[in-house]
Amino acid sequence: MRIYKNFINNDWVGAISGKTFPVDNPATEEVFAEVSRSGTRDIDAAVVAAGSAFNGWRLTDPGSRREILKEIAKKTVEHGDEVAKLITQECGKPFVEAQDEIDVIASNFEYYAELGRDQIGRIVAPTSSRSMSLVKYEPYGVVGCIIPWNFPMALMAWKVAPALAAGNTVVLKPSEVTPVSILKWAEMTCDSLPSGVLNIVNGYGKEAGSPLVEHPDVPVVAFTGSIATGTIISQLAAKNLKKVSLELGGKDPVIICADCDIEVAAKGAAWGGFMNAGQVCTSVERVYVFDEVADSFTEALVEEAKKVNIGDPMDANTDMGPMASSVQYEKAHEKVGLAVEQGARLLTGGGRPEVFDKGYFYAPTVFDNMTAEMELMNEEAFSPVVPIQKVKSLEEAIEFSNATKYGLGCSIYTKDIELAMTAADDIKAGSFWINNPLSENNAAPFGGMKMSGQGRELGIEGLDEFREPKHILIDYRQEKKDWWFPYGSDGE
Ligand code: ADP
Repeated sequence: MRIYKNFINNDWVGAISGKTFPVDNPATEEVFAEVSRSGTRDIDAAVVAAGSAFNGWRLTDPGSRREILKEIAKKTVEHGDEVAKLITQECGKPFVEAQDEIDVIASNFEYYAELGRDQIGRIVAPTSSRSMSLVKYEPYGVVGCIIPWNFPMALMAWKVAPALAAGNTVVLKPSEVTPVSILKWAEMTCDSLPSGVLNIVNGYGKEAGSPLVEHPDVPVVAFTGSIATGTIISQLAAKNLKKVSLELGGKDPVIICADCDIEVAAKGAAWGGFMNAGQVCTSVERVYVFDEVADSFTEALVEEAKKVNIGDPMDANTDMGPMASSVQYEKAHEKVGLAVEQGARLLTGGGRPEVFDKGYFYAPTVFDNMTAEMELMNEEAFSPVVPIQKVKSLEEAIEFSNATKYGLGCSIYTKDIELAMTAADDIKAGSFWINNPLSENNAAPFGGMKMSGQGRELGIEGLDEFREPKHILIDYRQEKKDWWFPYGSDGE
């Protein structure tokens, strides 16, 4: 069995303790790799490497930095299928979805390679003549990136590409559930990076993640994961007043208006709810359907749920693989049980499909008869479970949509521009999708309002997370100013 090591100073090194941890395939429950189980000393070594590389990287010609990042994008495409197979093997998502992640890495590195070269500051109108005010954006230093298991590669790229493009160096801690694809990707694509610019240290959250967050020489931490872990990270980082960007959970509503095309809306809701087995922070987590179309929409969604092809995620015909881990499977099943207990009506799914005797497969699940106070309408399920609640009007849908602590995304299906744009104005969410759920754009910001996070990824906003502005004032004339001492008229 292959043992994967840490990547520090462009070298592959085992954890100082010599320990490893296992990574399994959620479709077969078989362990297929061992990975270095790191701790504080390994993080220290990586931060020293990144710190030593910082000045060189910061001062690298922007044009050369662009070339290096573009080279990573090119090699990512060349080795894409090999890396995508590992994503599927450790995460369980269908191969076609893993290939999408490869596209995301390549396009992100391309996008930020250009943006980082092009956007370095601005000139501000000065307050006096013969002078100039420049605003220059500078990198912070060593950036710590901590990422989850549901999009192990895409969420890596969303952080690492802009952090490097802005001139920072990086220490990355992958999720302990899905570290292998990242390590393989680094092995195959990152040889053009100068030593120490990107370092990858593996391990568990408390053992390797916390020391990274607390390290005094890491001024910025970028994290994607649960609200619970995000809160811990925020508290740890506050001790040194670090800058933190957090992309946390969601409870994204989808609003089905009476005028919409039911078939399209049902297909969209099924894809949005069951893609990656519902383990997407912007999954469809709750449906608010107008009374008039509730029965027809519910029937259509149940049909779509039953049609989802569950199976071997490497099979090209598979729509949905297993959940990523036994922990996720158990959490999903508990939430489904609670919904039944609270009076929700289970229309389809609700457990492991009978054809599987192993693997963390969970059938696409649909509930109706939901009411606003039920837990499944309020707490993130992060599983292939879609609950439906009826609403009388758009006002009611907006009120319910805003009633949770989350504010990540929201979708609506309608042809009525007034309904769509009123909801877009009034619902607190970082992304709002009209008739096209879960669609990202490299050039547009992504992130959460309320407890779904702080800061943004993608777009110019995603670059701004990793650089700080400096105002430089230039006065062409060296002469005493009228407003200096002495203030009194006795002075010269
Ligand atoms: P989930 O609960 O969905 O597995 P988490 O938010 O706990 O997601 O994990 C996301 C990432 O955060 C992983 O890389 C994990 O190792 C890391 N992590 C978990 N706990 C901590 C912690 N206390 N400090 C730093 N990182 C952590």
